[in-house]
Amino acid sequence: MDKPSYKDFCFNGTGTFELASIPTGLGIDEGLKKKYVEATRKNVERIAELQERLYADRREGLLVMFQAMDAAGKDGTIEHVFSGVNPQGVEVTCFKTPSKEELAHDYMWRAWKALPERGMIGVFNRSYYEDVLVVQVHQMQKGYNMAQRNIGLPSDEFYAQRYEQLSNFEKYLDQNSYRVVKVFLNVSQEEQHARFLSRIEEPVKNWKFSAGDLAESALWPQYMEAYQQVISNTSSVAAPWYVIPADQKFVARYLVSELVKDVLEDIDPQFPQLSEEEVAAMQPLREQLLAERNGEEA
Ligand code: ATP
Ligand code: MG
Repeated sequence: MDKPSYKDFCFNGTGTFELASIPTGLGIDEGLKKKYVEATRKNVERIAELQERLYADRREGLLVMFQAMDAAGKDGTIEHVFSGVNPQGVEVTCFKTPSKEELAHDYMWRAWKALPERGMIGVFNRSYYEDVLVVQVHQMQKGYNMAQRNIGLPSDEFYAQRYEQLSNFEKYLDQNSYRVVKVFLNVSQEEQHARFLSRIEEPVKNWKFSAGDLAESALWPQYMEAYQQVISNTSSVAAPWYVIPADQKFVARYLVSELVKDVLEDIDPQFPQLSEEEVAAMQPLREQLLAERNGEEA
């Protein structure tokens, strides 16, 4: 069975990017779901092994960012792909509506604070990309308490500056031994509405529904235009975007698990090797411990 590859949905700044031509679903036969789930499980196991090495090695850090419209499956994807990883090796940060304190700082402030140490996997559930997505769609910058020379700029100039800032920031991370992976879970509005409906109809899912989500969904064309601009202006070899078809959750989870596994394989983290002297220095201690044990047994 040939499965699709996340590589077909990678944008690294070369060539043109046209969101409207990228599928939100691949129409995979639901009968194959078990096979995808099994392949995802294997990837999750491998991710856990590689994460342990990454943690021991500490030469590189990994940042995986998720952006999506509501109900596209960010939470479920994060839960499934990172379920096998030692909780001490992964940090998930959710980017919600900024607090007063956050708004009083530059928009990267909260993201800097959430960056993982090298050796860790940082997962951003939403990210600083909200500052060029929701903020752009609603033109929120106009209401910010900032200097007129900045927020008074025409919108396209203001956001062109932000795209440049983000590209520079990601280049900076690359040059400081971080891998940056950006995932857009690309769901159709039709599938989104079907998921909203089940959030309303199934009592156990009620808590996930928020009336505001429908209001945002009504701005679908504006959001898609913003994603089009954002992805075409911030894709780079150092920090590509992956536009993952998300209409079928099991397919999206499989593709993201492949992606994360492959990035970790590419880092190829190694357990630190001790020098001969260090190994030799442990031998007398080993003998001491053995002697103690033998003494206790005697
Ligand atoms: P879920 O609904 O699946 O629980 P979520 O990520 O949608 O997860 P919510 O608490 O519903 O979480 O929404 C967070 C909201 O915060 C989103 O609507 C997002 O657009 C908004 N947000 C995030 N960052 C910013 C920002 N910098 N400025 C304004 N709004 C932001
Ligand atoms: Mg929400």
